[in-house]
Amino acid sequence: MAVEHKLEAPVANFIRNIIDADLAAGKNAARRWSGKPGPGPQQLAGALDPARIRTRFPPEPNGYLHFGHAKSICLNFGLARDYGGACHLRFDDTNPEKEEQEYVHAIIDAVHWLGFDWADNLYYASDYFAWMYAFAEDLIRAGHAYVDSQSAEQMRANRGTLTEGGTDSPFRNRSADENLDLFRRMKSGEFPDGAHILRAKIDMASPNINLRDPAIYRIRHAEHHNTGNTWCVYPMYTYAHPIEDALENITHSICTLEFEDQRPFYDWLLERLAEAGDLQRPLPQQYEFARLNLSYVVLSKRKLIQLVEEKHVDGWDDPRLPTLVGARRRGFTPEGFRHFAERIGVSKADSWIDMSVLEDCQRENLNETAPRRIAVLDPLKLIIDNYPAGAEEICEAPNHPQKPDWGKRPIPFSGELWIEREDFMEVPAKGYFRLFPGNTVRLRYGFVIKCLGCDKDAAGNVIAVHCEYMADSKSGTPGSDNYKVKGNIHWLSAKHAYEAEIRLYDRLFAVPNPGAGGRDFLDDINPHAKRVIRAQLEPAVRDAAAEERFQFERHGYFVADRIDSQPGRPVFNRTVTLRDSWASK
Ligand code: ATP
Ligand code: MG
Repeated sequence: MAVEHKLEAPVANFIRNIIDADLAAGKNAARRWSGKPGPGPQQLAGALDPARIRTRFPPEPNGYLHFGHAKSICLNFGLARDYGGACHLRFDDTNPEKEEQEYVHAIIDAVHWLGFDWADNLYYASDYFAWMYAFAEDLIRAGHAYVDSQSAEQMRANRGTLTEGGTDSPFRNRSADENLDLFRRMKSGEFPDGAHILRAKIDMASPNINLRDPAIYRIRHAEHHNTGNTWCVYPMYTYAHPIEDALENITHSICTLEFEDQRPFYDWLLERLAEAGDLQRPLPQQYEFARLNLSYVVLSKRKLIQLVEEKHVDGWDDPRLPTLVGARRRGFTPEGFRHFAERIGVSKADSWIDMSVLEDCQRENLNETAPRRIAVLDPLKLIIDNYPAGAEEICEAPNHPQKPDWGKRPIPFSGELWIEREDFMEVPAKGYFRLFPGNTVRLRYGFVIKCLGCDKDAAGNVIAVHCEYMADSKSGTPGSDNYKVKGNIHWLSAKHAYEAEIRLYDRLFAVPNPGAGGRDFLDDINPHAKRVIRAQLEPAVRDAAAEERFQFERHGYFVADRIDSQPGRPVFNRTVTLRDSWASK
């Protein structure tokens, strides 16, 4: 019953406008591309690049991907798909200290799960270390970089402020030969961490602090997950990233707004390297868009790591977390995320998106794709006093109310049923149309019943409800419509239903903006975001496969847990509730 959720047609946005204009002007038409950059500098000229545009998604492998990354993935891969281009998956692994192979695998899985593919365009920034190093030597030779030997404190003090320019380093006018010698000795491991640093030589008086001779290479005696101990100098992210883009022939390098002030350095660096003959034109261009801010979650890697490490949640794939592995376990769908990305669009204005927008996008997809089933989450026994003892029969329920071609399934009926505890009130509240003594309701897909009363235990708790059924009221039989009732409740035959674990998930935080106003974000955790119950399920879901999704009528969308559920012994997670409660339908 796999149904692909129809994607909306691409909505125009400022990035699409830029690409349209670039294509119309033939800006990138003459690019040449020889495929994967090799391990070190070489001439890159190849055949004309068959891709009309190239974008990239460049995660740092230092955490699991979250909902914000999904926006960036859908944008970059979506543009490549729509424009006959290519989108590269590039691990931006220039920092040796925080990166791990575990994250590389998780990121690959998550991008695939979202429905995107990079063909053979999988890259590691660390594969370009030799290029980056050689380019740095070229910058030194051309007088565009120097080795600074000030201490970190001196450098900070001389950097200036947002309103005042900085002060030149006393080492700023070293000769190219001296710089080259020192830089090579940095590389060969002669100096400890922090002894020297290579800086771009731009302008210490620039109003843009990022142009005040930014650091481009630092000494780090650290093992790297990909290059091991080959290097003890590592490029800074702001130096490495433009080079990675250029080597991979990226045309549109799309990043979040906080990099806007870095763009002048991005352009400065690539211009200098093109002048030196290291890179070919046209050069990649950086464009910035507003990151996703989503209410009721946190999308900061640091906070997500804290939630996991301090065990506020059960690991990276906890269904409460806004990670993509968590979302998958929760039952969210890739189509729902792609739909969400289309709906929120792309702009340059920072804004907050309400969690309900994502939940609605998931519901829209699940409504289309999830077969209907019945579960009684808080079971109360219903005894039909006039049903023949020991008898049973079959009722039929549609698999999807709007899709008759999905057919119907049998639901066994008998004299003892499970109903929801909340569907009975001994003394009805005003406007309550479900079961109370003397009232008549329909058992959905079954019979009309009249409530006769209830049994209680010594403490006064209701333990069973009694009723009589109208034998000529069976749904779908002639004349069954003659009964007019206001209430309509779901049920399961006690003999045929079986018990299973259900995890009811809700939003991770109790407030829209966790940690706002100087509070600790951990204090805003919603203690009710996970509730584990034992429920009664209809026989038809007993053999659910892991990750199979259903709508349990009135209760929401559920998925068989991909780790703990097995056919014959399912465990369900609630993905999201239904927008409207049954009673208001
Ligand atoms: P870090 O602080 O570790 O850099 P990050 O969230 O930026 O965290 P990256 O791995 O660098 O993580 O992100 C990869 C890509 O995802 C980047 O291009 C980044 O701009 C994008 N991205 C990250 N967070 C969001 C978000 N909330 N909305 C949209 N894009 C995002
Ligand atoms: Mg980042």
